[in-house]
Amino acid sequence: LIETIATQVGVALIQAEAYANLEDLNQQLEALDRTRYNLVAITGHELRTPLSTIQVCLESLASEPDMPQELRQVMLNAALSDAERMRKLIQDFLTLSQLESGRVEWNPEALSIQECLDLSLSNTLARKVKEDVPQIVVPVTSNLPLVQADGEWLVEVLAKLLDNACKFTDSDGRVSVDVETNGRGLLKVTVADTGRGIEPNRLETVFDRFYQEEGALQRTTGGTGLGLAICRQIIRRWGGEIWAESEGKNKGSQFHFTIPIVESLPKQKKEPAAKI
Ligand code: ADP
Repeated sequence: LIETIATQVGVALIQAEAYANLEDLNQQLEALDRTRYNLVAITGHELRTPLSTIQVCLESLASEPDMPQELRQVMLNAALSDAERMRKLIQDFLTLSQLESGRVEWNPEALSIQECLDLSLSNTLARKVKEDVPQIVVPVTSNLPLVQADGEWLVEVLAKLLDNACKFTDSDGRVSVDVETNGRGLLKVTVADTGRGIEPNRLETVFDRFYQEEGALQRTTGGTGLGLAICRQIIRRWGGEIWAESEGKNKGSQFHFTIPIVESLPKQKKEPAAKI
């Protein structure tokens, strides 16, 4: 009898666990569904705003052939800049969903952080994120360790952090990059600026998708609000972490990330490939 009861209790426990797992799975699926719904809603909203500007500008240009040349130019520039914003948004959105759905093929290899940094810096300067970029200081040392990463993605992370640091810092400010080993097989890279800073309660939120301090309408710096979410996805793939520090408004910001170091030197190191 005891044996029968024990068997029945065992079966009941297994069933209860199966139900609990099913319940858990259901909750996870519902959460995923909510995320997908929110994402589509937010993306739709973010795309509609620039599209409306483009439409209004083109309608005015079409309906007022005698519009003064100066005003025509203003309208054209507004339409062009919002078209560019839409292009960036779609590009960043596709990159993020590619990363989140696990459709990216990862092939980390030994890379020179110095070369990746040089490439990112020239990408940032070539993109002309704004008219007058602040002074940018990068480390000048020949013995930086090699890191284990995917070149094009590492260049993307560094360029996004440099773009942001330049965007949110006045031209008389300073952006600096620092690299240090932490003794636990990781390299810590810091992109610091003397710019507008981040409120302490926003240090984590800045990594949320579409977070931007100013709303879409007041934005003067462009951007999509997806850059840091993309960086976090990439860095975590290599087992690193990325976080922000700031003493508050107008006190500058520091973005740090960690990345695995290659312990023994490979025979041949690969050049990083330019993504952009
Ligand atoms: P984007 O730069 O395209 O707006 P990001 O995801 O890269 O999007 O950044 C999200 C937000 O985080 C920015 O809009 C800004 O409000 C804040 N932020 C990012 N980097 C900095 C920085 N270096 N200094 C101050 N604020 C920053």
